[in-house]
Amino acid sequence: MSETPLLICGAGFKPEERDRLAGAFPAAFVNGPDEMGSIENGLRAGIKAIAYKGHKPFGAAEMDLFPQLGVIANYGVGYDAIDVDAASARSIAVTNTPDVLSDDVADIAVGLMIAQARSMVLGHAHVLTGRWAEQGEMPLNRKLSGSRVGIVGLGRIGREIADRLAAFKMDIHYHSRAEKETPGWTYHADVVGLAEAVDFLVIALVGGPETENYVSKAAIDALGPRGVVINISRGTTVDEAALLDALEQGRIAGAGLDVFLNEPNIDKRFLRLPNVVLQPHQGSGTVETRTAMAELQLENVACFLRGEPLKTPVN
Ligand code: NAP
Repeated sequence: MSETPLLICGAGFKPEERDRLAGAFPAAFVNGPDEMGSIENGLRAGIKAIAYKGHKPFGAAEMDLFPQLGVIANYGVGYDAIDVDAASARSIAVTNTPDVLSDDVADIAVGLMIAQARSMVLGHAHVLTGRWAEQGEMPLNRKLSGSRVGIVGLGRIGREIADRLAAFKMDIHYHSRAEKETPGWTYHADVVGLAEAVDFLVIALVGGPETENYVSKAAIDALGPRGVVINISRGTTVDEAALLDALEQGRIAGAGLDVFLNEPNIDKRFLRLPNVVLQPHQGSGTVETRTAMAELQLENVACFLRGEPLKTPVN
């Protein structure tokens, strides 16, 4: 094994995560793919594994800086920042951290739905500002239990969301590329048809070019004035400009969003909307889940460097 086989890449790593990786294998560190070019040649030549955390593009040009690179172990289930085709063409394996975060992301989706429908942000302010004592009851809001929901993408997280909403006695509809085995949920072959049939549309797709604007302007329009968009996937999966137009013009009822284009510098139009609940991409952000993700990433690095089968390969 080379002297320093591991590169830890990502300003978002917590000190303890970095320490654990660097404690397992001799490691160098950069803040992001844009700093890889400045690593000294000798060090780059020995790197065999990269532990990556972040959303900045990691493409062919960066991969070609490391002649011995064999694995990119991503922290997160979504690996849309990594050019997987370029990695495969170079026989570089990519791994991610599926399943261990599905519960948390599903919890946040349900939390966004409840907070949006029940005006919980307004309610919180109603208490804090003293309006409750001065003016009495806050405006009535909207019943969530028993309503119709459409899940766009019935993958690992989508299914966890659907299971939770079934317990809320909701009528579950979904769209995936093919019909799946379910306890009787209604399948829709296209997203516009799904949106027409439901009031809450929850997006749980992968990100990346293939799902860009998958929830189109037509789908948003089809939701109608009682429609609420919940997105915990990636900002790219929904036509964000069309969503903002619809929210501003009251053509849909609201949105609950954990993901956006250009995070964290999101479109300022979101900040002026009264009918949204916004979260800073914190779907998997619990101590327990982030620990499990870090462990799985390290396991993938360790498996590769020891010549063992990878735990969770994606290519
Ligand atoms: P998954 O099990 O792979 O599910 C992905 C879903 O995307 C599936 O329903 C799949 O459709 C659909 N899909 C994939 N490629 C597609 C394509 N080309 N066209 C249309 N649909 C496509 O992934 P997961 O574990 O549920 O994670 C889903 C996503 O959640 C991640 O990729 C990530 O972007 C996001 N996420 C967000 C957070 C957060 O903090 N907010 C945290 C973790 C993950 P089929 O059902 O047809 O196979």
